[in-house]
Amino acid sequence: MAKYIFVTGGVVSGLRKGITASSIGVLLKASGLNVFMQKFDPYLNVDPGTMSPYQHGEVFVTADGAETDLDLGHYERFIDENLTKESNITSGQIYKNVIEKERRGEYDGGTVQVVPHVTNEIKKKVYYAAETSKADIIITEIGGTVGDIESLPFIEAIRQVRMEQRRENVIYMHVSLVPYIAASKESKTKPTQHSVRELLSLGIQPDIVVARAEQLLDDSLIEKIALFFNIEKSNVLVATDAASIYEVPMKMYQQNAQQVISNLLNLNITKTDITEWKRFVEKIEHSQTTIEIKLVGKYIELPDAYLSVSESLRIAGYENSVQIKIDWIKAEDVTVDNYQQLFQNAKGILVPGGFGKRGFEGKILTCQFARENKIPLLGICFGMQAAVIEFARNVCHIEDANSSELVKTNNAVIDLIRGKDKTEDIGGTLRLGNYKTTLVPNTLAHQLYGKDEVLERHRHRYEVNNDYRQQLEQAGLVFSGLYETKNLVEIIELRDHPFYIAAQYHPEFTSRPNKPNPLFNGFIQAVIKTK
Ligand code: GLN
Repeated sequence: MAKYIFVTGGVVSGLRKGITASSIGVLLKASGLNVFMQKFDPYLNVDPGTMSPYQHGEVFVTADGAETDLDLGHYERFIDENLTKESNITSGQIYKNVIEKERRGEYDGGTVQVVPHVTNEIKKKVYYAAETSKADIIITEIGGTVGDIESLPFIEAIRQVRMEQRRENVIYMHVSLVPYIAASKESKTKPTQHSVRELLSLGIQPDIVVARAEQLLDDSLIEKIALFFNIEKSNVLVATDAASIYEVPMKMYQQNAQQVISNLLNLNITKTDITEWKRFVEKIEHSQTTIEIKLVGKYIELPDAYLSVSESLRIAGYENSVQIKIDWIKAEDVTVDNYQQLFQNAKGILVPGGFGKRGFEGKILTCQFARENKIPLLGICFGMQAAVIEFARNVCHIEDANSSELVKTNNAVIDLIRGKDKTEDIGGTLRLGNYKTTLVPNTLAHQLYGKDEVLERHRHRYEVNNDYRQQLEQAGLVFSGLYETKNLVEIIELRDHPFYIAAQYHPEFTSRPNKPNPLFNGFIQAVIKTK
């Protein structure tokens, strides 16, 4: 039988409660328990797949092809488990299910209401996650802040879970802000008191409070918080600002969070082996020199749009004892007139995924520069498509080579392929989630992965057009990874270049601490070597 930890947030958003929740996951997993994580997002979009990256940041893709909140990326990187479609539930999905049931007449003519119908649907998602994951512990984070109108049904649903599952199987953890007021040199608990009051008024008594604070709190303040929440002092944890998010599990461990949870949920945890995590944090500390990577993207004003890419770079950096500094370059700003100068000192270039026309020509110029000047390049998805188009134009002299996503052209080197043979809907369907890539022997890709096949995650609609493959290949482009079932290109690379590789899939979704994705690891090693 699973036990449940619900994580809510108070005062303001942006308290990194996803990191706190994940850190708890790390400690419980290190205590020998199976952990599954889930996030409830109160917005009405069915999933973040159609939201602008400016609104939402990156769309994280799970192995089973769900388009999810970027917090799931943190969850996976922290607890080192593949999550699923059951891991990200939005109000949009919940209401959609309820309304569809109503249309099918499944409510037998009853009046359909938020309580109990919407709340029942939410609880079902919690229980279904427990049932399908078979985990010992389900950690569910409620997006937003307690008191938001739109999160009310979720709060009510998790309140009911405790009634249904008994006390020792369910706990509530509230992450709240304790701001430091510089003028009076004091940390203030008042905002937290208000958010607790709000939570109590909704029928939830938190069991653990995580105080987010700039610095450690005085004992008296911790006592005050404990008193306000009706909890033991030991159940107040303090999460101070950390230099790296990866330090947070250690901070929680030092405060014995695992024992606090064990006591509350009767888990009988006797040993928590945190060695692996510690090893990773030590790697971070030992990473002294810094290398710069130029990241050429469309949405660089919001680095969260490339969260897994930047975390993958960092993780690969630590693996090789270097800190990564990302030089964010707006693809639109890369022009024929300035690209030589922009990249003249480049040590390594990454062209990430993206959609649409804006800035695409800048990405093409970026690939051209990296190819001609032998700068290590890692291209991802749209970045790979840019690399192929650049090669077609400048090496194969197909001047109007382009992607049919962007323009009408007689030479759609990147095109809608699936569906052409009528075996698959062409519609608006993205290729999502895991597909098998077969790696071609004697290629860089094969050498980096060190195996013949690999599963990687996808999120794209267009593909390399097979009609051009022979011509590209004859001119020197190497197709080093293929999705054989549909004969699609998955990886391209160049010989006679220190490191020039690009993938149609998203290698950034599978990097984990101590286990960087091989493409990222190889990229960073190549940058270090050519530096
Ligand atoms: N826009 C491209 C496609 O749909 C690439 C998508 C991406 O980079 N995620 O194929």
